[in-house]
Amino acid sequence: MGQKIQKYYIGVDIGGTKIVIALIDINGNVLFKKILSTELNLNKNVVIRNISEIIDEIKIIYKDINIIGIGIGSAGIVLYNKGIIKFSPNIGWRDFYIVSQLQKISKMRVVLDNDANAAAWGIFYLKYKSKYNNMLCVTLGTGVGGGFILNGKMFRGIDGTAGEIGHMTYIPDGLECPCGNKGCLERYVGKYGLNMLIDRHLKEEAQKSNLAKKSLLLDYKKENVIVDPKLLEAAAEKGDELALKIWIEFGEILGTAFATILNLLNLEAIHITGGIAHAQKFFEKALVDTIKRRAFSVPAETVKLIFEEKKQDMGVIGAGLLLEEL
Ligand SMILES: [Zn+2]
Repeated sequence: MGQKIQKYYIGVDIGGTKIVIALIDINGNVLFKKILSTELNLNKNVVIRNISEIIDEIKIIYKDINIIGIGIGSAGIVLYNKGIIKFSPNIGWRDFYIVSQLQKISKMRVVLDNDANAAAWGIFYLKYKSKYNNMLCVTLGTGVGGGFILNGKMFRGIDGTAGEIGHMTYIPDGLECPCGNKGCLERYVGKYGLNMLIDRHLKEEAQKSNLAKKSLLLDYKKENVIVDPKLLEAAAEKGDELALKIWIEFGEILGTAFATILNLLNLEAIHITGGIAHAQKFFEKALVDTIKRRAFSVPAETVKLIFEEKKQDMGVIGAGLLLEEL
């Protein structure tokens, strides 16, 4: 008697090329996981049927446990209150009423949020909820995703689209962004932005010094390799001066964006994850110095910067844990 019932959640993470479905527990452990490719059939009804089949499989295998519901994290524009994927640019869905459809079939509670929010919530819930009430979780990858936790709750704005830090205007007349704006932050600190930065430095330096000629980055570019953060990190690790210089500029760009956010929101912590977080030592000083130079002194001193490598399956774990938010 008095035995505490353990809680479990089904997480669904909808990305550009695949859907991950998992059964997780309250500590973020993954008990069961299956992956569906979205490259074969994108028809909404087929996707709902495929997801439902896996959910049924979970219900059969784990028939004696207490599954709280289904939490979905999806890429694209998501309307949290209405349970609709408004637009998914990679997959091409518009107005996908995924929550009501899954609810009808599964007879379970279903919630939906943006994938960046879901991941941010997962990170916060599993590790930081007893420590901080106001934090930003940023994922730096191909794009730049973010989620704000304010006063201990996920901040979504009125429609559910808040937290798009990757699409803050960084340079008013800058590079065109697929979102329709120009000069979005993501164009400068995402994977694409990093390559633009490398190209620009190689060009500039070629004219004024032999830094470029000596750089490993020139060799990569000659071979038409897309220089990802790992390669840039490896070059910096070998003492490549141009690579070190690029990391510093990267830190300055990110620091400029963070300074603006900190002046607005006076956060306790910013959590940075993704492939780039690993190269922390090459850009952290520039990042911190820029924040101190640009933001008001109080929020700049208060904020803790946390760098952490991406935890595997955080998207699907965070999606499941969305059910713990309510
Ligand atoms: Zn944009």
